[in-house]
Amino acid sequence: MHVAPGQPLMVCEYCDAVYRRRTLARREVARCMRCGAILDRHQWLSLDKQFALIVAAGIVFIIANVEPIVQVSLGSSNATTTLWGAAIAMWNDQSQVVAVLAALTLFFFPLTQILIFGWLLAFARRGERAPGFRQAMVMLYYVRPWSMIEVFMLGTLVAVVKASSYFKVVPGAGIWSFGVLTLLITVFASHDARQLWHKTAGNNE
Ligand SMILES: [Zn+2]
Repeated sequence: MHVAPGQPLMVCEYCDAVYRRRTLARREVARCMRCGAILDRHQWLSLDKQFALIVAAGIVFIIANVEPIVQVSLGSSNATTTLWGAAIAMWNDQSQVVAVLAALTLFFFPLTQILIFGWLLAFARRGERAPGFRQAMVMLYYVRPWSMIEVFMLGTLVAVVKASSYFKVVPGAGIWSFGVLTLLITVFASHDARQLWHKTAGNNE
């Protein structure tokens, strides 16, 4: 990474080498010259666009949680279930651990992530640090690896394909919403949350 005078400093997380930050071009990745670790990536979505994306994710998240994920028919009887219906059924079926894990990884962690990002970005797009910025960034760091919507998507697809050899299984709006949510979150996750530190630098919490 080249040194651009007058820019704020940045430190390699792995070897503590110090560099001056500069704006990266499209597809450009800044690597540490000493240890090769990635220091920074080009952020291809502005904060405004990231905010729009997280609001969209919030709306899709609500749809995903209230609409049925699958409809199963056997003969003339039909059954639909939402994510919550499935979690409650697992709870009642002696699978409390799985039910709690599903609720945490598919509901509480993604929700926390969407809310925190929404809160931080709403302020960051005006160049300000949201109240509680520091605590929110720390919480995000711990919550982020625990949202496992992609894993859920795969698991559900496998289950739907297997079940369809016994029953007539129709994917519901909920499952499509989870699919869209997976895409939105993947795009969003390509952005480094740490950028918020320097994008709002110089402004008090
Ligand atoms: Zn380094």
